[in-house]
Amino acid sequence: MRGSPTNGAGGGGEPPLYQEVRKRFEQGTLTSPPKQVQVGRAIRRHTCVVCQRLIRPGQVQNDFRSDDGARASVHTLCLRAWVDVSRAQKAPER
Ligand SMILES: [Zn+2]
Repeated sequence: MRGSPTNGAGGGGEPPLYQEVRKRFEQGTLTSPPKQVQVGRAIRRHTCVVCQRLIRPGQVQNDFRSDDGARASVHTLCLRAWVDVSRAQKAPER
């Protein structure tokens, strides 16, 4: 019998992006992900709200409105990580 010494949460290797998203989620600098986004190609440069990197013109971006009505954009991969992390975290209700 062989056991592997990994003590991760399972799922096989978590990308660094997930760890970053979770950290920001726990710190409260990231709120719940939007329920609806508009997917399209960026025609101007935007800053991804999750990874803070640029979304360049021609890249796929996900547009949404935050709670205060401001428009924001996020990469597709970042959005997926954001949704996954928020589901796993189950923010405490109040
Ligand atoms: Zn991003």
